[in-house]
Amino acid sequence: MGDVADQSLASACLVLLGPPGCGKGTQAARLSERLDVPAISTGDMLRAAVAEGSELGQRVSGIMAVGALVDDATMADVVRDRLGRDDAQGGFLLDGFPRTVPQAGTLSTVLEERQQELDAVLLFEVPEAVLLERTLGRQRADDSEEVIRHRLRVYEAETRPLVGYYGERDLLRRVNGDQSMEAVTASLLEALES
Ligand code: ADP
Repeated sequence: MGDVADQSLASACLVLLGPPGCGKGTQAARLSERLDVPAISTGDMLRAAVAEGSELGQRVSGIMAVGALVDDATMADVVRDRLGRDDAQGGFLLDGFPRTVPQAGTLSTVLEERQQELDAVLLFEVPEAVLLERTLGRQRADDSEEVIRHRLRVYEAETRPLVGYYGERDLLRRVNGDQSMEAVTASLLEALES
């Protein structure tokens, strides 16, 4: 505790990238505690808006229910607001954003405005059979088999290109997500230290 490595990690601006069911949410919570930065899940934020019945929630509920993506302009507003809050000034873990190349552009603009910089993008690699098994087991409203299969296709088409995008920018770190929860956390921390 308190050594140089811990302090450099404590200001981490990180993106967690990976398909539905890859374990990003679980690991975001664990890393958030370890690194003392907030875990920001756009999926959780949108689900909360739907539960509240806010104007945003009403606008996105139908889109989420079928596993499609909320439009980039709406997501840009959501994320700009959230990253502007006090708790995100010393770093953050983004889970679920960016999900498209235009969203990655938005993130880069917002961070520039805030004079922050991404430290790394952690890519969770998990075989598709495992993803299906995990998501089908979790019984969330947007987790019926048909919706999950659609979300996986949307991931391949819209989100997978971010692997190349962040690879070119030398930010991508690949982590094996098909291990125990503890082992994945250890691999993530190791990837951040290298
Ligand atoms: P999972 O982790 O299972 O992939 P999330 O909880 O991150 O799913 O997101 C659930 C739903 O919320 C998505 O299917 C999508 O409709 C919407 N959503 C979340 N983040 C974004 C985003 N960055 N852009 C567009 N839609 C989003």
